[in-house]
Amino acid sequence: MLPQVIGGVAVAGLATVAGFHTMWPTSQVYGRTFTGLKPGSRMLALTFDDGPNDPYTQQMMDVLARHGVKATFFLIGRFVQQRPEIARALVEAGHVIGIHTWDHPNLIFASSTEVRRQLRQTQQAIFDVTGVEAELFRPPFGGRRPASLRIARACGLQTVMWNVTCYDWKAESADEIVKHAERQIRGGNVILLHDGEYHRIGVDRSRSVAASDRILARYKGEGYKFVTIPEMMERQQQLAVGN
Ligand SMILES: [Zn+2]
Repeated sequence: MLPQVIGGVAVAGLATVAGFHTMWPTSQVYGRTFTGLKPGSRMLALTFDDGPNDPYTQQMMDVLARHGVKATFFLIGRFVQQRPEIARALVEAGHVIGIHTWDHPNLIFASSTEVRRQLRQTQQAIFDVTGVEAELFRPPFGGRRPASLRIARACGLQTVMWNVTCYDWKAESADEIVKHAERQIRGGNVILLHDGEYHRIGVDRSRSVAASDRILARYKGEGYKFVTIPEMMERQQQLAVGN
């Protein structure tokens, strides 16, 4: 009886470890992803998922414009198809757009064919309405496996995770979102926020908008520079070669 119990525990333990690395945003076990710079860097990157979302993507753009900051937006393909003008406005305002799949499945449970379709179809939709060839990818729920990361690379996409989670999808106030950010920011961070909600367009993101305004005001005031993900990646390259 005992060996079986031990065996059972061991298997359960392995499954838990595998699950942890599949979903944990900064884990590198299943392939390299971008998660920001080393702590102490004076750069921060705001990233917004699940848009385009009417009217909150525009409101987020207004806040960013007031602070003179560019950010990175990970768009859902089917929402781009429904609101192409918002995707175009993001590009025209100088923000970077990446892809967040066509309809937000957890790719851990998707076949390779389905992963490829989710990525290609979204890249195509973004290209059709903006002329931009998206090069960044954020997996829904942070879920990825070696196969999906390989497919992303084959599609010309770099996978971008995050290391500051603001839990804005369940926060009851802007204050709560800001506090989550403040507890985790150490410099060099990729900050996860949402201008949309993956089920539908129109979900209220006013708290995320207000929180972004406050995060920008506080950290700009402390001398941090807000950059896009490509700018942060470029800095990482420079640091790697010793500049
Ligand atoms: Zn999402």
